[in-house]
Amino acid sequence: MPDSLAPHFHRDDGPTFSVVVPAFNEAEGLTAFHTRLAAAMAPLGAWEVIYVDDGSTDATRDVVDYLRRDDPRIALVSLSRNFGKEIATTAGLDHARGEAAIVIDADLQDPPEVIPRLVAAWRQGFDMVCARRRGRPGETALKRLTARAFYRLMRNAGSVRLPEDTGDFRLMSRRVVDAVRQLREQHRFMKGLFAWVGFPTTTILYDREPRAMGGTKWNYWKLWNFALEGITSFTVMPLKIATYLGLAVAVLAAIYGIQVIVKPLLFGNPVAGYPSLMTVILFLGGIQLTTLGIIGEYLGRIFNETKQRPLYLVERFHPSRARVEAGE
Ligand code: UDP
Ligand code: MG
Repeated sequence: MPDSLAPHFHRDDGPTFSVVVPAFNEAEGLTAFHTRLAAAMAPLGAWEVIYVDDGSTDATRDVVDYLRRDDPRIALVSLSRNFGKEIATTAGLDHARGEAAIVIDADLQDPPEVIPRLVAAWRQGFDMVCARRRGRPGETALKRLTARAFYRLMRNAGSVRLPEDTGDFRLMSRRVVDAVRQLREQHRFMKGLFAWVGFPTTTILYDREPRAMGGTKWNYWKLWNFALEGITSFTVMPLKIATYLGLAVAVLAAIYGIQVIVKPLLFGNPVAGYPSLMTVILFLGGIQLTTLGIIGEYLGRIFNETKQRPLYLVERFHPSRARVEAGE
């Protein structure tokens, strides 16, 4: 295990909680977020917050720098470019020192006021406390429908059970954080990775708020790719489907072939069959290309994993000042 992945051990001078906040172009709302977070964390004991600036092109980093002046509990990890939320979250977890880590979005869709309830469940002995949203306000019927279909598919095909309507908003104990940090795959479907590590898990319900400001960075194409990531990361079912589809077509082709041979023997051979020939060629061509595409999806991922590149590069890291003063 490389040194950077060695488990952290809690030290008396470290914070109890590390709040990990991936932030991409969130300058507008970050101050409001931090105020609400600080208010929610105040009664819970020692804590730090790690803002991961995921290559923002706005003033996100300056806002964090500004907040750091007054608040020694703030750490800033600035990534060298935009790596995406999954990797930004991973970078935050890599820099978290707390006995428990809380992952929360910067856009106030995950209300910080829910954190004390996550902590209460953790104190009862759960290693992973997921926050499950009660409804999906502000989302279209189509998005809700596709989300439901995706969860059903993953439940039937996947080897891990994904909790439904649960995002990355959750609390993890130190041993879960250390377990997740060992999973260094490039294609990171975080919900799946969180589910994969296991450990005693519980769920609490909360009302997800509509985005406070700015816009979501999701569109249907991105969501489709996100779903593909989830499926290919956790099941080889599509490859199996390709196999059985191929078998089924072969059986049908054999039956049809017999008919093609027998019919002219019994009834003579008026030359015909252009439409059926065309149909079969196009049908088989379609199936072959789709199957190749499925293989390609997996092959591309194997290619990306074999390069063994680091997950992210840190451009700048400012630890929380409480940590600097403790002599690190
Ligand atoms: N985010 C990030 N990198 C990205 C995209 C998003 O760190 O490339 C952060 C973003 O700043 C926010 C969180 O991930 O804190 C969730 O993003 P968003 O609100 O766009 O997603 P949604 O809530 O619609 O799922
Ligand atoms: Mg959001």
